[in-house]
Amino acid sequence: MCPNRNREADGLMGDAAHQKRKSDHNEGNAFDLTHDPANGVDCHFFAKLVLLDYRVSYVIWNRQIYNTASAGEGWRPYHGRNGHTHHMHVSIKAALRDIASPWPWASLEC
Ligand SMILES: [Zn+2]
Repeated sequence: MCPNRNREADGLMGDAAHQKRKSDHNEGNAFDLTHDPANGVDCHFFAKLVLLDYRVSYVIWNRQIYNTASAGEGWRPYHGRNGHTHHMHVSIKAALRDIASPWPWASLEC
């Protein structure tokens, strides 16, 4: 997907400091995607797109969080220290993580 995109904040596992904190990344149940609209990855769009997948538990993007377990509340303010304005965070339901069907963005052209 989007071969020329910026991958600066992409990742599954956090760095050493991050691994000391409680995080879905430490269990391999989360990934980050770098916001790079010039190269096809506009997280304003992707944050909504990933929510179409039933494996996603919550998304943090641009100082907002969407938890699929309380979808009726929609996007709510996120007050974490990192506002996630340069990358979005996607957490996956642990019980569904091994389902290998394609993600909604797998066939997107950039
Ligand atoms: Zn993250």
